[in-house]
Amino acid sequence: RAKSAGRGRVEVFDEALRRQLDERAELEEAIREGLAAGEFLLHYQPVVRVDGATLEGYEALVRWNRPGHGLTMPDSFIPTAEKSTLICHLGRWVLGEATLRFARWLQTRTMDDEEPGSPVTIAVNISGRHLAAASIVTDVKNALRAAQLPPELLVLEITETVLIDEPAAAPHLRALRELGVKISIDDFGTGYTSIGQLQFLNADTLKIDKSLVGSQRPGAAELVELVVRAAHAFGLSVIAEGIEHEEQVLALQRVGCDSAQGYLFARPQESLDVGRDLVPRRSPPSAGERPGD
Ligand code: C2E
Ligand code: MG
Ligand code: MG
Ligand code: MG
Repeated sequence: RAKSAGRGRVEVFDEALRRQLDERAELEEAIREGLAAGEFLLHYQPVVRVDGATLEGYEALVRWNRPGHGLTMPDSFIPTAEKSTLICHLGRWVLGEATLRFARWLQTRTMDDEEPGSPVTIAVNISGRHLAAASIVTDVKNALRAAQLPPELLVLEITETVLIDEPAAAPHLRALRELGVKISIDDFGTGYTSIGQLQFLNADTLKIDKSLVGSQRPGAAELVELVVRAAHAFGLSVIAEGIEHEEQVLALQRVGCDSAQGYLFARPQESLDVGRDLVPRRSPPSAGERPGD
């Protein structure tokens, strides 16, 4: 009868759901243990000015040296960490590690290394859930104090959807900007934010997603140009993400984009010194990550 068949389906569904929940609990536990055991590490990818490729800053990107799994990329554990307050623990670790490593690196730089112009910054990705948590402002203050890093040198990258999905994040964002920390809107062009809404964004920088900058569709270049012009009109500087080809740099220069980040300049890697070796608009022959690492 239909009834028993229906019950059978429910059992199959229950089974699949239970397995999914078990896997999630297992991964959460492994992340928790991994944090305690020091299995996480950061790679750093330079952000460069498109005019002449001088170093502007670095983005810290988390990796996990998971026993039995090798170097594990964020897409395979961040979504699970974001389902609980575990993302706040991980985010706190990333903030502490990135600011400390960056502050130490700044100290090793001699006067000769310093580029004229604005100082080099360190950017950290912050999940919406962490930004909405009561601890975020303290977490950032603690990291800055421990590293003795001026707040202006820290950039927090948040996605455009955070302000819609996490209304509790808005006052925290204001408090962080009052501290002097910079805010960057990540992955612009993948969410629902319209160009007009850029005027209401409480931020300093806009990062245009690689899916938009790299698009070959007719009109895509004009759209990038529009975004750059609107961002500038509202006082935001613009970084183009995922730049892999020389022609993209020329196009970005044409539309007045400020900065870029991508494999063309450097891959994310463990050392912060890569920026010193940046060859203007050429891919350095570095021993960094390869796709599929
Ligand atoms: P994202 O913040 O947009 O970071 C940029 C991603 O693009 C990084 O992937 C980077 O390795 C990759 N990328 C850089 N240049 C190129 C290029 O030229 N071509 C291509 N195809 N890719 C490029 P990754 O490191 O795998 O990170 C993925 C995402 O995971 C990040 O996207 C960010 O949303 C998240 N994530 C990374 N680290 C953290 C973290 O510490 N905390 C949180 N909450 N999220 C993080
Ligand atoms: Mg980012
Ligand atoms: Mg991004
Ligand atoms: Mg992205």
